[in-house]
Amino acid sequence: MLVSAKEMLQKARDGKYAVGQFNINNLEWTKAILLTAQENNSPVILGVSEGAGKYMAGYKTVVGMVNGMLEELNITVPVALHLDHGSYEGAKECVAAGFSSIMFDGSHYPIEENVEKTKELVALANEKGLSIEAEVGSIGGEEDGVIGAGEVADPNECKRIADLGVTMLAAGIGNIHGKYPANWQGLNFDVLAEIQKLTAGMPLVLHGGTGIPEDMIKKAISLGVSKINVNTECQLSFAEATRTYIEAGKDLEGKGFDPRKLLAPGFNAIKETVKEKMELFGSVGKA
Ligand SMILES: [Zn+2]
Repeated sequence: MLVSAKEMLQKARDGKYAVGQFNINNLEWTKAILLTAQENNSPVILGVSEGAGKYMAGYKTVVGMVNGMLEELNITVPVALHLDHGSYEGAKECVAAGFSSIMFDGSHYPIEENVEKTKELVALANEKGLSIEAEVGSIGGEEDGVIGAGEVADPNECKRIADLGVTMLAAGIGNIHGKYPANWQGLNFDVLAEIQKLTAGMPLVLHGGTGIPEDMIKKAISLGVSKINVNTECQLSFAEATRTYIEAGKDLEGKGFDPRKLLAPGFNAIKETVKEKMELFGSVGKA
């Protein structure tokens, strides 16, 4: 059964480790992540962006697939199904479809509007027993495209959003979605410490986890980051393993074109990446 992310994240915060959010794109992705979580006795959060939800034929299809797998694969570790970077409407749709966790990303709204909409969705999530993640906007040069400082939030705005009763909070601490530029200045631990102080133990979420050095990840966890989002890295390992298989001509040998064979190397590569992340985040054995 799907669970809210609340308890697993509070335990992670208290135990100084982080739970990985791994974004899913299809059946292979979902199965690989769930099996790896079970094998490593780790709690896990399945992330679904609005685009991926659409791709997988809608939120109800996703809920049906995930619930079916939990039962048929005998998954007993805590699993949350979470909307990633949800819009106001998308968040409501996912609540109705049976997600156990939502993110409302109001970071692009002025702070007052972000507060109003987040407040409304917190009430809805509480009513249904779901966890809710909110995001605070970044200050400074986002418009310039890629900048070395990354996304940085205002700690006082973080406090305003945290005080609304959200379960976990995403705030820029110098992280970047997608590829990190050569001039990246690293995570801003001063801002992270300030946010942690002002939000009084709120589990914090680190987005854009692909490409952050391991020592910075560990330090961020020690300063209150309890959830880390992984997306691009699984896509890269899946693509690389699939490319290797095809370039070796394996799809032309025997029944190598069978999707169950063709997609197997990518499936295994996702499992390997997820396991590495769970070990790095410290969530192995914490289910
Ligand atoms: Zn994100």
